[in-house]
Amino acid sequence: MKNIDILVAGAGIGGLTTALCLAAKGFRVTVVEQSDRITEIGAGIQISPNGNRVLHDLGLKRELEAVAFLPLQSERRDWKTGEVLAGGPLGETVIERYGFPYYHIHRADLIRVLGEAVARSPLIELQTGVRAEGFTQDADGVRLALQGNRMLEAGTLIGADGIRSVVRDGLFEAEAPTFTGNIAWRSLIPAERLPPGMVRPAATAWWGPGRHFVHYYVRGGQFVNCVAVVEKDGWEIESWTERGDLAELRADFAGWHDDIGTLIATMDPDACFKWALFDRPPMPRWGKGRVTLLGDACHPTLPFMAQGAVMAIEDAAVVAGCLSGIAEPARAFAHYEALRRERTAAIQSGSRRNARLFHMHGAAAEDRNREAAAQHRQTLEWLYTYDALTAHQAPTTEGSRQ
Ligand SMILES: Cc1cc2nc3c(=O)[nH]c(=O)nc-3n(C[C@H](O)[C@H](O)[C@H](O)COP(=O)(O)OP(=O)(O)OC[C@H]3O[C@@H](n4cnc5c(N)ncnc54)[C@H](O)[C@@H]3O)c2cc1C
Repeated sequence: MKNIDILVAGAGIGGLTTALCLAAKGFRVTVVEQSDRITEIGAGIQISPNGNRVLHDLGLKRELEAVAFLPLQSERRDWKTGEVLAGGPLGETVIERYGFPYYHIHRADLIRVLGEAVARSPLIELQTGVRAEGFTQDADGVRLALQGNRMLEAGTLIGADGIRSVVRDGLFEAEAPTFTGNIAWRSLIPAERLPPGMVRPAATAWWGPGRHFVHYYVRGGQFVNCVAVVEKDGWEIESWTERGDLAELRADFAGWHDDIGTLIATMDPDACFKWALFDRPPMPRWGKGRVTLLGDACHPTLPFMAQGAVMAIEDAAVVAGCLSGIAEPARAFAHYEALRRERTAAIQSGSRRNARLFHMHGAAAEDRNREAAAQHRQTLEWLYTYDALTAHQAPTTEGSRQ
């Protein structure tokens, strides 16, 4: 067992994966989570091969396979005609090409699998109902202040506490994230309520002027997860539990292909939620000394490349590799940042670019449609071939920053 303890603030996908990656390297980890129990809302998430490389290495392949859905292909479709504009094979082809699958998973299933693995680990302690409020650090270690006048001490602290990170605010000047002018609707539809065969076993995104609509199966095909994104100002509530008015969603997608109309007509009006999308520009630094950030805390990303959580998973493997290979925490964190900032920044700006690309009108949309297939292939290659498990072995010029 390593002789430094690590504190992780936040038990989302990023925090839990970090704890598991660190424990796999022999570190003792304490995770604090403000919610009374670790859970996720009812929605789907796509985890691409670059993320599954890490999750499978943690020994979670069998448990993930039991709850995931393996899409056969990805498709970009025209909002009105339904024509497939771009796409490519997923399923077995992705496994053969990149070594790992592309999963569609219910978020609650993913969090349960990660949470059960955490509970099995003798090196991880998870404290729920515990909110981090700030920290101090010196040459000996870090003290994390908790709600209710409690405190935890450790050798290092990793803030995996999401887009409104308290750890980030303690490191740098507090700065609110920006509303991106997009809101996301989401709903899960029991597959049996839909016309057989209407939803193909694919990761499907319909592109239209000022909006797009994504759907895919989760939980082995039991549900169809829908996410509809619309450019809209004047409403900025960021909550997975804020109910939306189905009539507004129907109006947002009036005139779209019949399949979209059928999906919206089948949604349960009491289980249709609305979420304002925020992000931040890439940060020049993520940490200082014995404290660093991970996941949405340092690179919140629009969901238009489906890579926000996958980046948090990659971060987790890289930070664990760096701490394991470099004894001095400040140097290890500097190396981690240097390895991760450029890739995550490219995904932040790529996701912003996709917001414009997906929502184009008129002639610009026609040019986009002609180029979409080639661009799609290039992006996938760059995304999926990344190996977060060995990335820490690469040299960087910043590894010696204190
Ligand atoms: C509509 C939508 C669709 C998306 N689809 C995808 C997708 O398909 N694929 C993908 O990879 N990504 C996707 N994302 C992005 C993904 O959801 C996030 O990037 C990911 O959840 C970030 O994980 P995280 O652990 O860094 O942060 P979070 O999930 O925000 O977790 C932070 C945790 O910290 C806790 N916490 C916060 N503050 C404190 C505190 N002070 N003390 C203690 N605990 C605290 C929170 O309660 C929470 O549990 C999507 C996002 C949206 C909005």
